[in-house]
Amino acid sequence: MLGYNHFPEGAVVSKNPQHLLKVRFGMLDPHEKDRLVGVAAEQAYNSVLITDASTSEPLIVYCNPAFCRMTGYPEEELLGQSPRMLQGPDTDPKVIASLRKALARNNYWEGRTVNYRKDGQAYIVNWNISPVKNAQGVTSHYVSVQQDVTEQEKAAIERDMLTQALNQANDPILVTDLNAQIVFVNHAFEQLTGFTTDEVIGQTPKLLSSGQQSAEFYQRMWQTLKANRPFQARFINQRKDGSRYYVEQSIAPVLDSAGQCRHFISTSWNVDELVEREQALHAMAMEDKMTGLLNRRAGDNRLQAAYHDWRTELQPLSLILCDIDHFKAVNDRFGHPAGDRIIQQVAATLSQQLRSSDAAIRWGGEEFMLVIQAHLAEASSLAERLRSAIAGLDDAEVGSISLSFGVAEAGTKDSLQQLISRTDKALYKAKRNGRDQVCCDHGQA
Ligand code: GH3
Ligand code: MG
Ligand code: MG
Repeated sequence: MLGYNHFPEGAVVSKNPQHLLKVRFGMLDPHEKDRLVGVAAEQAYNSVLITDASTSEPLIVYCNPAFCRMTGYPEEELLGQSPRMLQGPDTDPKVIASLRKALARNNYWEGRTVNYRKDGQAYIVNWNISPVKNAQGVTSHYVSVQQDVTEQEKAAIERDMLTQALNQANDPILVTDLNAQIVFVNHAFEQLTGFTTDEVIGQTPKLLSSGQQSAEFYQRMWQTLKANRPFQARFINQRKDGSRYYVEQSIAPVLDSAGQCRHFISTSWNVDELVEREQALHAMAMEDKMTGLLNRRAGDNRLQAAYHDWRTELQPLSLILCDIDHFKAVNDRFGHPAGDRIIQQVAATLSQQLRSSDAAIRWGGEEFMLVIQAHLAEASSLAERLRSAIAGLDDAEVGSISLSFGVAEAGTKDSLQQLISRTDKALYKAKRNGRDQVCCDHGQA
């Protein structure tokens, strides 16, 4: 017998390990080779079956232990029998017919059937069968390698069923692996986001993030998930087309049988309508119905925020307080509805002139507070522009009206109340000086 390290003289020795193995195996003594192949068949995980081709009904001449385990028959009950003994009611006759046809032509065949164990239990088997010729070139045996795929099939059916169930759900579902790579999304997800399954598989859910939520928000999410706890929150996401949507989302770790986290599953429901209603209610609560300006309560908040920004971020802050001149007379002469109309016209004229960083508040009946992110000089020239715009209004019934303005800039010693009070004083001065004019308080600025 040739040892593994004995090569004939002059043989070209390959450096490729697989090639080397082939060369060495080919050089084995034929008996040794047969013995090794026999051991391999005995130890194989797959079932091996050899039938005699010389009889009209091929009979079993060899089966390995895996075949006995698969079928539940001991070797002695199989040898000399026809493999037909494994067939039963659910064995598809068409598959068997195709096998017989292939064998009649001495062709290789492979397929899948339902077979039956000794205890009557059905199993699904994938198998192939090859005719083997003898030295005379006549088919003497059939060698078949078989694999019980019942469990895989069951798992596949279960997977299909679960996928269908998840796809039936109305709420979007997304599954990621531990690296946050998306491995599954359902139809509802595709419908909500506009992304197809193919477009998101392998990506991370980051592609949905709208940039509206803080880094701390996502940190909190990961901390919770890494502790194997579910995370629930409202997410502001974006669709494929960039439009924003809101979801109440619950993300849970999916543990395997050993308690190891393998995946994360996220289920969510779209709360766009709820958020819209909340925002509308919030806006309504902030708004003065008659003029569309901020109401007094929202105005107070806005003033405090502006005052805070001025103190902390050194943004300039000036206030303009204005009041319609002789308004009682308007009401008295033309009636309350005409008075209302004038108030609306004044409010519209004021807010048209403001920048987005400024705010207009209906401070009282016909009195308005403007919060201006500017120094005194700029605020007072804005007030002057407003005064002249109002003076230019010409209501068909009431005619023209005028406004008086008080302006003050926040100074280092000012509390918010002091600033408001200085602005009020400036307005009072404008009234006293004859109305239709702008007065500035230079006290603290
Ligand atoms: P002054 O130039 O000093 O400001 O004189 P005025 O007549 O405008 O005096 P004041 O500002 O004190 O008058 C406010 C009047 O505005 C009293 C009130 O009847 C009227 N008013 C307050 N809110 C409304 C409203 O919503 N609609 C109408 N039509 N009138 C209102
Ligand atoms: Mg007035
Ligand atoms: Mg007034």
